[in-house]
Amino acid sequence: MKRTLMRPGGMPDSASAPVVTPLMPSVAYASDTPDRLDDQYEGRAAGYTYAREGHPNADVLARRIDAMEGAPHPGVVVGSGMAAVTAVLLGLCKTGDHVIGGDQLYGRSLRMMREDLPRLGIATSLADPTDAAAIAAAVRPNTRLVLIEVVSNPTLRIADIDGIAQVCRDRDVLLVVDNTFTTPRAIQPFEHGADVVLHSVTKLLAGHADVTLGWVAARQAEQAKMMYDFAVTTGMTASPFDCWLAERGLMSFELRFDRAEATAARLADHLAGQPLVKRVLFPTRPDHPDRARAQGVLQGHGCNMVSFELEGGRAAANAFTQGAHQIAFAPTLGDVGTTLSHPASSSHRALTAQSRAALGMSEGFFRVSVGLEDPEALIAAFDAGLAAVAATK
Ligand SMILES: *Cc1c(COP(=O)(O)O)cnc(C)c1O
Repeated sequence: MKRTLMRPGGMPDSASAPVVTPLMPSVAYASDTPDRLDDQYEGRAAGYTYAREGHPNADVLARRIDAMEGAPHPGVVVGSGMAAVTAVLLGLCKTGDHVIGGDQLYGRSLRMMREDLPRLGIATSLADPTDAAAIAAAVRPNTRLVLIEVVSNPTLRIADIDGIAQVCRDRDVLLVVDNTFTTPRAIQPFEHGADVVLHSVTKLLAGHADVTLGWVAARQAEQAKMMYDFAVTTGMTASPFDCWLAERGLMSFELRFDRAEATAARLADHLAGQPLVKRVLFPTRPDHPDRARAQGVLQGHGCNMVSFELEGGRAAANAFTQGAHQIAFAPTLGDVGTTLSHPASSSHRALTAQSRAALGMSEGFFRVSVGLEDPEALIAAFDAGLAAVAATK
């Protein structure tokens, strides 16, 4: 046996190139000389050093999302959507700052606002993002940023992003938009004046419920660098394999989004005609409370989320999930498969029944993330759920 040193000599030569991004799991990158390493660190040569600081699969994915969002500066891919939220909040704020959050943010973002930031000496307020005046009233001299989602979860209210952007410009406060629900297909927040945009790539962008990733980008180079340094220092780095899978998912993002959105519109109309359904929420329906704003802000898109309220409270909700057993009752969204969420027992269980009621979320309230199933088959699965509710009456 001929013995070799530990490292192989790279890939075999090929006059032709792969059409798919290679997976590069290497943790470290070897340099020719200390001079060449200086060139890299000082920006005269491109290259990688250590995967926590950056690696090719994360960069390939980040450049694709940058392009979709029209990011003014390169964004960074991190290990989850919450890592992206954290990179913004802790990368850009310091003790003594004040932060405003939309009052219906994603559950863990709300927890950051209520518990973690105050513990670190960063004051927080929550305000209604459908009302720019309410956000303006919450601004203090030390307010650093406002974090909003364009479509709220699970009540699907539409934020007054343009009004809030104006407030932020006037008061020299950063506007941060979590664009996970809406995606760049429906809105590109940088065009509306956002200073920072972030995603849970886990959801619609990667789209197959098999990777957990986040992305964040800023308008100003200084803020982009602060978030990048914070992410790298605190180890928010994404796995190359996850980035590779997410890039694969991203190839079909637009097709998936359009298909899911069309089915969501059909499902919403179908549910609205059912006697056991009290209320249906979908941004393009004429009965949506923010329809006019949705038309403008989402450019006619409704996205893939539908919420509805059943008559009959928890008993009806139990009967429904059992009857609609073909639909995954699971806490994610934006997957190729339709998922059903029951906020009262999951995302919003920490709230009192009274606070849930104030947000319009009873025990009969469900949120649906519509996937890519055949629309007829999906509607039949929902009808099976409704039939099970009817059988309990
Ligand atoms: C899921 C989600 C997050 C968190 O993303 P993870 O990838 O699960 O960490 C943040 N914001 C919104 C709107 C989400 O839906």
